[in-house]
Amino acid sequence: MRASNLYAPTLRNTPAEAEIASHQLMYRAGMIRKTAGGMYTFLPLAWRTIRKIEQIIREEMDAAGGQEIMMPILQPAEFWQESGRWGAYGDEMMRIKDRHGRDFCLGPTHEEMITALVRDEVRSYKELPLMLYQIQDKFRDERRPRFGLMRSREFIMKDLYSFDKDVEGMNESYKKMYDAYTNIFTRMGLEFRPVEADNGAIGGGHSHEFTVLADAGESNIAVCTKCDYAASDEKAELKPVEAPAEDELPLEKVSTPGTNTIEALCDFLKVPADKTIKAVAYQTDKDELVLAFIRGDHDVNEVKVINQIEGALDLRMAEEEAIRAAGGCPGFMGPIGIKKDTHVLVDATVMNMHNAVTGANEVDVHYKNVNPQRDFDKDAIIVTDLRMVKEGDPCPHCGAPLKMTRGIEAGQVFTLGTKYSKAMGATFLDENGKEQPLVMGCYGIGVGRTMAAAIEQNNDDQGIVWPRAIAPFEVVVVAVNAKKEEQLTYAEGIYDECRKAGLDVLLDDRKERAGVKFKDCDLIGYPVRVTIGPKAVDEDIIEVKVRKTGEVYNFTRADYLEKVQ
Ligand code: ATP
Ligand code: MG
Ligand code: MG
Ligand code: MG
Repeated sequence: MRASNLYAPTLRNTPAEAEIASHQLMYRAGMIRKTAGGMYTFLPLAWRTIRKIEQIIREEMDAAGGQEIMMPILQPAEFWQESGRWGAYGDEMMRIKDRHGRDFCLGPTHEEMITALVRDEVRSYKELPLMLYQIQDKFRDERRPRFGLMRSREFIMKDLYSFDKDVEGMNESYKKMYDAYTNIFTRMGLEFRPVEADNGAIGGGHSHEFTVLADAGESNIAVCTKCDYAASDEKAELKPVEAPAEDELPLEKVSTPGTNTIEALCDFLKVPADKTIKAVAYQTDKDELVLAFIRGDHDVNEVKVINQIEGALDLRMAEEEAIRAAGGCPGFMGPIGIKKDTHVLVDATVMNMHNAVTGANEVDVHYKNVNPQRDFDKDAIIVTDLRMVKEGDPCPHCGAPLKMTRGIEAGQVFTLGTKYSKAMGATFLDENGKEQPLVMGCYGIGVGRTMAAAIEQNNDDQGIVWPRAIAPFEVVVVAVNAKKEEQLTYAEGIYDECRKAGLDVLLDDRKERAGVKFKDCDLIGYPVRVTIGPKAVDEDIIEVKVRKTGEVYNFTRADYLEKVQ
């Protein structure tokens, strides 16, 4: 490829809306352009990196026994109604109707669709285990799409689903995927940790998030300074805290008109929505019980209609969900309780309970100064041992101090068990001819987010510093003055040699000033730059610059290739 033909419109300035390095640099390096909120076009350089990431993923998925397929993006509502997630998925699901008024969604994930596929195909244990995957665009109408490819509304995901005959099989598949993910992120040259993660509403069993370490990350993780223990702060084993002091304040009933939205509730409490309120459960006008929770110092990022989760109209589940949610709130220290038929607001700074607020079984009314032990009946669930892990806490495995760090969730692996197979009737006949539900797992990697994470982790004030395995080009050969015939010809010769040596190489043959070209090279971040100027033509001196270290080496035509490879 010649730079004179490459569509990579680099910019000197950063667009105002780009808040983090990866977003800014991808823009400036001419890799992506915004189409609409949370939607991006990948220009050639970005697409090359995406294809390399996908290729590494494919190789590792195939090596672990995965087989690539491609399912439709458009999914009929019926599958989701069967699993009970049509309602539960909430506003994050992009829903559309066809001309006959039938409901569809643009797939945010594919558990339902693949379960529907496999239930019609797999008959016998002899066909198991089975691992199917695809690499495809997913759609999630994120409440706050931001940070460019990091949280977009249309994004590329690799999603693999495993089907086994029993739990042992599922655990083996999980292990294979865990190992494959470890290989993938290692091959990409990223510093990452598989962290024990909460698997949320997706089902029982275990889960790990593959987290790329970077300050811009949205995940707080606790990493042991000695052993390899790492866990998201939502999951890190919590030590019980002492029961809060007896609360003397009287329960106070207050009118809270129109507080059935999180914004209104936060407003009522006079707290910024992103700092203090961590979990909110409330009943809507339509009598749905809704749980919303806020993680870290971010905006509300998950809202669930609880009484539609798994089709359960059971408030008990709602209570459990709320507690799980509260447990997933950094800084949350206090007990919460939810009583049947209440709307509940939990103020997460409840070191003491003075701030706790709960609903009052009346629209637009809350109780202040709630003390769960005192004010809830015995049906209420009260949690007193929630505490988020913090810097210096002992590692639950080896006792060494934990370090808190930030990371980007680039992938996640889950065991699903029989949640979907039971709901959707996906069964097989076991060795005894008995019908059994398939035992499943699911495994996702965000391809675009991984690219962004790689940049977050590898950049300097000049631009991107690509890990070689996923750089858009490994090597750039720069003809310093391409208007000079002898330099251009020489550079073309070098370019051909590099190609013949199997390198992924770009020839910068643009008739631009050398300074402009060098700046672009640093901004785009090619790992190796070979400079062909008058010294090469006249003195047989070929300069090789390593982007990462900035080191410059002088070689001769006879031996430069050794360094470049
Ligand atoms: P998050 O916690 O950041 O919202 P998630 O847990 O909802 O992500 P999963 O359902 O586990 O995401 O999807 C698998 C992978 O898809 C994630 O690990 C992430 O890399 C990627 N991903 C999820 N949502 C987005 C998004 N909006 N934009 C880009 N990538 C995403
Ligand atoms: Mg999400
Ligand atoms: Mg997540
Ligand atoms: Mg996830």
